[in-house]
Amino acid sequence: MTLRLRLSLAFLLVVIVPLTVAAVVVGRGVPNALDSAARNRVLASRAGAGALVQATCQRVRLAAEVLGREAAVGDKLKAAQDIVGRGAVQYAVVTSASGKVLAVAGGVARGESGGSLPNPIPPGALGSCSRGIPASLGIRAIADSVDLRSTGGAGLGSAAVAISLDFTFATSLSRSANADVTLVSDGKVLATTLAPTVAAKLARSAKTLVGSGRAMNVGDRLAAATPAGPGQAVLVVSVTRPGVDSLELLVVAVLITVLLLAAVIGWGLARVTTRPLVELSEAAERVAGGDLETRIAVTSDDEVGQLATSFNDMTDRLRGYVGALQSSRDELRRNLARLGDTLSSTHDLGRILGVILETAVAETRSSAGAIYVVADGRDELTLRAGHGLDSRGARVGDVLGFGAGVTGAVAESGEAVRGHVGAPGLVAAPDEPRSEELISVPLRTTGGIVGVLNLYDRVDGRPYDDGDLQTIRTFASQAAVALDNVLLHQEAQRLSVTDGLTGLRNYRYFQQAISRETERAVRFARPMGLLMLDLDHFKNVNDTHGHQVGDAVLIEIAERVRAEVREVDLVARYGGEEFAVVLPETDRGGAEHIARRICERVRGRPLHAAGVELRLTVSIGVAVLPDDGTTPSALIRAADDALYRAKAAGRDRWL
Ligand code: GH3
Ligand code: MG
Ligand code: MG
Repeated sequence: MTLRLRLSLAFLLVVIVPLTVAAVVVGRGVPNALDSAARNRVLASRAGAGALVQATCQRVRLAAEVLGREAAVGDKLKAAQDIVGRGAVQYAVVTSASGKVLAVAGGVARGESGGSLPNPIPPGALGSCSRGIPASLGIRAIADSVDLRSTGGAGLGSAAVAISLDFTFATSLSRSANADVTLVSDGKVLATTLAPTVAAKLARSAKTLVGSGRAMNVGDRLAAATPAGPGQAVLVVSVTRPGVDSLELLVVAVLITVLLLAAVIGWGLARVTTRPLVELSEAAERVAGGDLETRIAVTSDDEVGQLATSFNDMTDRLRGYVGALQSSRDELRRNLARLGDTLSSTHDLGRILGVILETAVAETRSSAGAIYVVADGRDELTLRAGHGLDSRGARVGDVLGFGAGVTGAVAESGEAVRGHVGAPGLVAAPDEPRSEELISVPLRTTGGIVGVLNLYDRVDGRPYDDGDLQTIRTFASQAAVALDNVLLHQEAQRLSVTDGLTGLRNYRYFQQAISRETERAVRFARPMGLLMLDLDHFKNVNDTHGHQVGDAVLIEIAERVRAEVREVDLVARYGGEEFAVVLPETDRGGAEHIARRICERVRGRPLHAAGVELRLTVSIGVAVLPDDGTTPSALIRAADDALYRAKAAGRDRWL
C-alpha cells in the first residue's frame, strides 16, 4: 500500500468517525426533538383553540343575554336583527313561551342530517355551550339561549343566538392556534381547514384523541383534541408530522456527499504531502544510478525543506568524495602506468631509479627525493636519481661515504628512519640534500642493501607519519626487487662480454667491436689500427711453474697492455695467451708506436706472479685500415700474418 493511499485512508477515517457520529446523533436526535417540539406545539395550539372556543362561548352567552333583555322589553324582531346586524352572532331567534318563533334573524350552518330540522331552528335545538347542552344533530353551531321573563317573573319564551361552526370559524380558530383545526361532532366533521379525507380520518380518531388527552399521530398528521365544552363539538387541532423520513434521507445524502468530498480532499492532501517525498525518492534513485549532479529544489523551510537541503548537502559531499576517489584512482593509474613502464624497461638502471623515485615522491606528496646506490666496493654511496634537489645543495653524481650522515647510516644499519632532521640519530652529512623532515629507507635485495631511498619535506608542510613510512617501506621492498633485476641483468651482460680471468673484453665482444669500428672507419674514411699479441714461449711458463702462475701472468700482462692504450682503444683477450687491440683513429705510425711501447712494457720489468718472478716477451702483428684491408676478417688475417712473421723473425718484436 503506498504512503499516499495510507494518508488518504487515514484522512478519510478521521473524517468518517466524527461525521458518522454526528449523522447518528442528528438522524436520531433531531427527529425526536422535532417530534416533541411538534407535540408541544399541537398541545399549545389545542389550548389556544380551546380558549378561543371558550371565549366564543362567553361571547355567545353575552349576546344571548343582550337579546333576551331587548326582546323582553322591545321589538323582538328588531332585537334579533340588531344583534345579528352588529356581527356579534350569525343567528338569532326569539320564541314564545309556547315555543312559537316570534322573531328570527340570520342563519346557522346545518350538517348532513340538518335537513330534517324545523326552520327556523328553535332555541332548544341549538343547545347551550355555557350550560353544556348539546345542539341537536345536524346543527353546527356554538349557541346559547336565555329564558324571556316578564318583570313579574312570568316565562315569556326564550331567545337564542348561534355562531356557525363553519369554515370561517374554523379558519379563525386555525389562525389563532397556528394549526389546522377540525370541529367534530359524533364522529362527523362539522368544519375543518383540512382536506375532507384528512379531516374525516381525524374525526374518526377524535374520541380516542380526547380520551388520551395527548398529541397523537393520525396518518401523516400529529393531532390533539378537546371538547369545545361539555356536550359540545370536539375540537381537533393538528399539524403535519415533521418530515423525519426526508430528514434521514437528507442526513444519508449529506453523509455520502461529505465522505466523497473528504475522499477527494484526502487524496489531494496526500498527493501534496507525498509529492516532495516522491521527488526525493526519485532523486535518490538518480543518485544511486550515478547521477551525482542531481539536486532537489528547496521550496520551503519546513521538515521537507530541511530534508531536501540535507539531501543536497549529502550529494555535494558524495560528489566531493567521488571526485577525491577518482583523482586518487587516476593517480594510482598514473603510478601503475609508470611502474608498468619500469617493468618493461628493467634493463635501464637510470630510468628505473627515476620511476621509483617519482612514484615515491608522488605517493608521499614530497617536495624532493633522492636514490643513493651502493658502490661495488661497498665503501661509498652514489646519488643516482634526484627530484627537486637543486635548492638543497646536492645533485646526481654526488658521492657519500658509507655510514656517513642519515643515508650512510641507513645503508649501514638497514633500518628505515623518519623524522625531523637534526634530531638524535638523524644528523645529515654536509653532502646530503638539505631538508627539515625526511624519510630514509634502505633498498634491500637478496644480495643485501643496494641503495637508499630518501624523501624530503612534504608539500603541505606536515611531518611524515608512520603511515607514510609504512607505505614507503612496502614500496621500497618492491622497488628493490625491480632494482635487483636490473643490477643482475647488468652484471650478466657485463659477464657475457668480459673475460673471466683478465677482466678484458672477450672474443665475442671483440668481434662486435671490430665490426662496428671497421664500418665506422670505412664510412668516415678514417684510419684504424689492429694489434694481435701472442706471449713468447708461454707454454714454458705453464710447464715450469704450473697453470696458476700462468694465469697470474696473463692477468698482469693484460693490465700492462691496457695501461699502454687510450680509453677509446679496446683491449680484448682473443684466446689463450693471445690478445687483440683495436685502435680507432690510428694509422700505421700510431699503431706501430703503441706496439713498440707494449713490447717494451712487457719486456722492461719482471712479472711478479703468485710469488714467482718471471721475465717474458711478446710478439705483435700490426694491421691497419685501409692499407691491410677494409673488413674485419681481412684485418685480422693481416695482423695474424704479421704476428706469425714476428715469431718467425725471432719473437719479442712487432711487425
Ligand atoms: P710461441 O712463442 O711460439 O707462441 O710459444 P708458445 O709456447 O707461447 O706457444 P703457443 O702460443 O702455441 O702456446 C700456447 C700455450 O699457452 C698453450 C697453453 O699451455 C698456454 N695457455 C693458453 N691459454 C692459457 C691459459 O688460459 N692459462 C694458462 N696458464 N696457460 C694457457
Ligand atoms: Mg699462442
Ligand atoms: Mg705464445
